[in-house]
Amino acid sequence: MTGSLEIICQVSIESPASVYSNLNQEQPRSTSISTAELEKQQSFSSQSQPLCTVIIGAGVIGLSLAYELALRGRRVKLIDQGQIGQGSSWAGAGILPAVATHSIVDPLEQLRSFSHELHSQWAQQLRSQTGIDTGFRRCGGLYVARSKTEAATLVANELWWREHGVISQRVYEKDISNLEPSLMPLVASGQVIAAWYLPDECQVRNPRHLKALALACLQMGVQLCPNWAGTELIIRSNQAAIRDSSGELIPAKQICICSGAWARLHLEQMQLRSGIMPIRGQMILYRLDKPLLQRIVNEGHRYLVPRDDGRILAGSSEEEVGYRVATTPEIIDQLHVWASGLCPALTRDKIEKTWAGLRPGSFDGLPYLGSVPGATNLFLAAGHFRAGLHLSCATAVMMADLMDGRKPDIDLDPFRVGRG
Ligand SMILES: Cc1cc2nc3c(=O)[nH]c(=O)nc-3n(C[C@H](O)[C@H](O)[C@H](O)COP(=O)(O)OP(=O)(O)OC[C@H]3O[C@@H](n4cnc5c(N)ncnc54)[C@H](O)[C@@H]3O)c2cc1C
Repeated sequence: MTGSLEIICQVSIESPASVYSNLNQEQPRSTSISTAELEKQQSFSSQSQPLCTVIIGAGVIGLSLAYELALRGRRVKLIDQGQIGQGSSWAGAGILPAVATHSIVDPLEQLRSFSHELHSQWAQQLRSQTGIDTGFRRCGGLYVARSKTEAATLVANELWWREHGVISQRVYEKDISNLEPSLMPLVASGQVIAAWYLPDECQVRNPRHLKALALACLQMGVQLCPNWAGTELIIRSNQAAIRDSSGELIPAKQICICSGAWARLHLEQMQLRSGIMPIRGQMILYRLDKPLLQRIVNEGHRYLVPRDDGRILAGSSEEEVGYRVATTPEIIDQLHVWASGLCPALTRDKIEKTWAGLRPGSFDGLPYLGSVPGATNLFLAAGHFRAGLHLSCATAVMMADLMDGRKPDIDLDPFRVGRG
């Protein structure tokens, strides 16, 4: 094992600090560009060494695409302005909701279902390749309603679940207490108006999944480049190129922008409009001595996600505050009041950590997957909002097909770049 690989294995799980910071570091210097250098880039294509594919952004989308392309034998360089796998993907909860199993005509549902299937395969693959258990589990999910509005939403959901072959079961007081004894006080208080159980809801422990992807990428020769600040995209004669902060051109066969919420800024640089916007979400991590819950508990947009080691995540909020990633005492307090209202055992002294992340929201709730108008070698995969971890595997396969010049099995037209 190389020094880099050892470093990756030593990092503590669910600690955002300096993960992968020593991996394969390539520090850009400072700037300036000339047409001669662009020509130099084009001349690279005639050299014997094949040009590499450059991916901008090492979140779950960039890492998954790098992994898929490397499996297909491509040379890949993955650059990030910060650390590898420390953006929204690290901050997320890792919920992989149950998916439709029949009558799937909607491309988004197709993407979801395909990704759901791939997650279990990738978890096994990554485990045998890297030895890392990504925490992929079919843990099941409970959906509870304490208000009439929430109950009405769940009734509507049930119709959709039934129509699309999502296994769901209406559960009542006794069933809830049997499934999750820790919810007994909640049930006894008479607050639960309606509840459903979805056995096919899964979870992945996202920090471990990211770590496994990064390690697998390294093992397959992907160049991981953290701390690449100041990277600029240039388009000339329908060809995109990247220059680093020293002004040097990075030769690339193709470039894919996977910079999550920051993809908006890349597109603005090219005078392209996009509906991508950062939506902040805050999270609390509780640490308990032993597991309190077995299943994910959902109420509206909030959830409790139990990990095997007794930790429980409580999330989350949706805030439009630009690129500010800090937590706020008000939201953390609201989340805690909500979480302890469901499970009184989640007391303040059990809070181990809090954090926030920027989801890459989009104006219509759909991701952007496709080629970028104006440059034949430039692609975009971003804007996955609340489902980027879930959709990451299928996104990688579809984007790799597209970049390989194959027609993807899922119609990507609804996700086209430039739709707004
Ligand atoms: C609180 C919270 C809970 C969530 N829960 C879930 C969940 O349960 N299930 C689910 O499926 N999804 C969930 N999500 C959403 C999911 O995390 C995102 O959709 C997903 O992580 C997006 O992945 P990404 O790779 O596009 O973005 P990111 O993970 O944000 O990665 C983008 C990367 O691009 C880099 N970058 C930005 N600009 C540049 C630049 N100029 N040059 C180089 N690099 C750059 C950033 O440093 C970053 O590393 C949650 C998100 C949050 C915040």
